[in-house]
Amino acid sequence: MENKKTEKIKKCPYCGKTENQIKAGFNASGTQRCKCKECKRYYTLEPKKHEYSEETRELALKIYYSGVSARGAAKILKMNKSNIANWIKKTKK
Ligand SMILES: [Zn+2]
Repeated sequence: MENKKTEKIKKCPYCGKTENQIKAGFNASGTQRCKCKECKRYYTLEPKKHEYSEETRELALKIYYSGVSARGAAKILKMNKSNIANWIKKTKK
């Protein structure tokens, strides 16, 4: 069994490096800001990345394919519409 790392790994969205990422305060909305010492750019960590279970995903898709809009399904499951939109996108090939 592989032990999944759940701790946040800081990764520069510009150069993709994970080394030399330092905390650099917070932005206006209180999101952790980081600085990449590799390319010397600032970025913010993605705030609140929700991870949903496989069950929730399947349920969302089921609701969606039963004729409910993505927005409607999001409302039912109390989640962000973009989550569901993403799942739909990934399912459609
Ligand atoms: Zn970088």
